[in-house]
Amino acid sequence: MIQSIRGFRDILPGEVERWQHIEATASTLLQSFGFREIRIPVLEKTELFCRSIGEQTDIVEKEMYTFPDRKGDMLTLRPEATASVVRAYIQHKLFAANPVQKLYTIGPMFRRERPQKGRYRQFYQINAEVFGVSSPLMDAQIIFMLATLLGRLGIRDCTVHLNSLGCPACRPGFKAALAGLLTRHTGELCEDCRRRAERNPLRVLDCKVPGCRQALADAPSMVDHLCDACKEHFASVQNHLETLGVPYILDNRLVRGLDYYTRTTFEIQTGLLGAQSAVTGGGRYDGLVQALGGPEIPGIGFAIGLDRLVELHALVQEVSGVHPKVFFCALGNAAQRMASEWICRLAAEGIEAEMDLSDKSLKNQMKQADRSLAPLVVMIGENELAEGQAVIRDMASREQHKAPIAGLLDVLRNTGK
Ligand code: ATP
Ligand code: MG
Repeated sequence: MIQSIRGFRDILPGEVERWQHIEATASTLLQSFGFREIRIPVLEKTELFCRSIGEQTDIVEKEMYTFPDRKGDMLTLRPEATASVVRAYIQHKLFAANPVQKLYTIGPMFRRERPQKGRYRQFYQINAEVFGVSSPLMDAQIIFMLATLLGRLGIRDCTVHLNSLGCPACRPGFKAALAGLLTRHTGELCEDCRRRAERNPLRVLDCKVPGCRQALADAPSMVDHLCDACKEHFASVQNHLETLGVPYILDNRLVRGLDYYTRTTFEIQTGLLGAQSAVTGGGRYDGLVQALGGPEIPGIGFAIGLDRLVELHALVQEVSGVHPKVFFCALGNAAQRMASEWICRLAAEGIEAEMDLSDKSLKNQMKQADRSLAPLVVMIGENELAEGQAVIRDMASREQHKAPIAGLLDVLRNTGK
């Protein structure tokens, strides 16, 4: 028996309705905020991710599914969406007509990390990007939109963590101060962090290993090193969040660890999912469009982890499954053909109907009707056929009556079930 690959899972009917509900809720909200959908490939040139995410990140160093195609070109299954959206924005010169573009996309991402609850090798994200706006009001709008989405889905117990990473003018000073501290504490750091300390010191702030957390207890804060322009920007983000009534906490450990990422960075975390606490990560990347070969245009975006959002949603809300509106029990060939014709007609009218096609007894067909959860059953036997009638049974009240087959569509439309 061939099984699916480790970390790659099926989302079955019964679960998928929750995904559909969340995706529809998010799309509607994103569109109300002026976002338009973009669909991007799952496979890209490896170089795109090395340049955008950065060579010295866990994703690029250890997690990407990279392989040569038959001609030897190096390709990668996308580990995130921002790089592709930025590539598309530049490739199609979407900035030419109007640099301000708000784009969103929903789909699978691939990272080869250790599978566990809330962490998969194929996982799903809702991703949104805003290009061409440097105003801090946009940063706050985006966070407000995310808080609104969680509210609409009935999800509470989430906290917005907020930080600023400064800009190329003020970050080097902070990096130097941090690097100094890291040198003094090298012995206490985990192996990964010793490597990070040299190549990408900001990433150490993010490490979850208790020893590293302790070693960094008195680490400097980026917010204490911000230049005046970044300080003002960050104050405006906070001020506008307060106006919009979005609670947040300042978290000086929150980083992205790449030079393209600038200023506002945020994460939405929950205490309800154990170790996998991040539901959304996002922030500004004012240097990324240019780094990927486009004009100097600022950007800000986020990625919601859909797998985790679905799990959170399952804690707070039932989602009802889908079932047919009517089940046909037909006895005999002619009745079966009649039922089949009705099923097609009804489906074409948008009414889901079902029947048994394996010549079961009436008793067994009724059992099947019961299992289908259809609220109405239509029974057609030879007598009914001869009279042009059908027996219609209400499964909840168990009442049944005969009615003309020709009027079935009206009956079904009027049941309101
Ligand atoms: P984490 O710290 O949990 O590894 P991350 O910083 O790698 O998250 P991002 O790259 O910011 O995550 O992606 C945004 C969101 O995507 C995360 O907040 C999380 O909800 C989700 N996510 C990331 N990796 C996975 C995964 N392997 N499986 C399921 N969801 C994931
Ligand atoms: Mg990760």
